[in-house]
Amino acid sequence: MHFNEFVRDIVDFPKPGITFKDITPLLQDPKALQQAAEALYVLVNERPIDKVVGVDSRGFIFAPILAMKLNAGFVPVRKAGKLPFRTVAEPYQLEYGQDILEIHTDAILKGEKVLVHDDVLATGGTCKAVCKLVEQLGGEVVQCNFLVNLTFLKGAAQLPNYTITSLLSY
Ligand code: IMP
Repeated sequence: MHFNEFVRDIVDFPKPGITFKDITPLLQDPKALQQAAEALYVLVNERPIDKVVGVDSRGFIFAPILAMKLNAGFVPVRKAGKLPFRTVAEPYQLEYGQDILEIHTDAILKGEKVLVHDDVLATGGTCKAVCKLVEQLGGEVVQCNFLVNLTFLKGAAQLPNYTITSLLSY
């Protein structure tokens, strides 16, 4: 399947000068949704995974699906102030702004193997912060997988110690 046919460019969103990759056409097509989930699962290539960490908020779409396929648990990483239990926090730089990400302190056990999932890899700041959170709890990041890698923003260069995979690259 040509997944790129289901990802559209939104010019000047959320700010002038940014062209946003919108994955909602892929989500609303039953075949594309199913095949994208399967293809993301295949990218994991039979590595054992204990937890799939999904990133607030579009990472929450495929991460639980991947977790179910991998017989793993799902863990949300959220923007500051959204998680109800004790958290550890990590500040990060966005393509458009700055923020703080949090994870529950009991979400990952020492030595657990973790797949990080998000919809889009842009500058890599978000993913780097998520990997730091996982490692603060003693988890091992086995792979970071994305629907879309905006390679021209060189996010993978921020993440030299991790395996980065994606369905689509621009
Ligand atoms: P980064 O930290 O610059 O790599 O930005 C990645 C984060 O911003 C991810 O959580 C994405 O969901 C979001 N993001 C950045 N650019 C886009 C885009 O073009 N489409 C959808 N999400 C994006």
